Amino acid sequence: MTSSACPCCSGLSFETCCGPILAGAPAATAEALMRSRYTAFVRHDLDHVERTHAPEIREDFNRAEAERVADECDWQRLDVLRATEEGDEGTVEFLIQFRRDGQDMRHHERASFRRIDGQWFYSAGEVNPKGEPRRVVKVGRNEPCPCGSGKKFKACCGR
Ligand SMILES: [Zn+2]
Ligand SMILES: [Zn+2]
Repeated sequence: MTSSACPCCSGLSFETCCGPILAGAPAATAEALMRSRYTAFVRHDLDHVERTHAPEIREDFNRAEAERVADECDWQRLDVLRATEEGDEGTVEFLIQFRRDGQDMRHHERASFRRIDGQWFYSAGEVNPKGEPRRVVKVGRNEPCPCGSGKKFKACCGR
């Protein structure tokens, strides 16, 4: 990692990733906004976190608590597990790994975002969401591959 690597673990530089969004540019996607909010915590830029709360939940934002969390946590990494968007609604499921009081902790959340006048806002979050049950598909080696390649499974993904 170079010194300018974005804290959100995107692999991009801060200047091309979360930097402009923290500076006030609209996030292109709900995921980009989510990443910028994580980066804001890492960089103690709680103004950004506060202003990207949807209007109806902004008064619930506890600035003092957010400052304390930002201070006490040693942020390790962000993984975006899933991000979907439909029109002006977005959902981002993510995992944050951090250290607090010398302990490794994780925060797993499925967050909802809403776009208002071209700007994405965080509107709700469900912590430790129940995942959809993992679908286990058993495929015979001579059956068509489920990836849709048209090959037999054993000649494709089953190799
Ligand atoms: Zn970033
Ligand atoms: Zn395949």
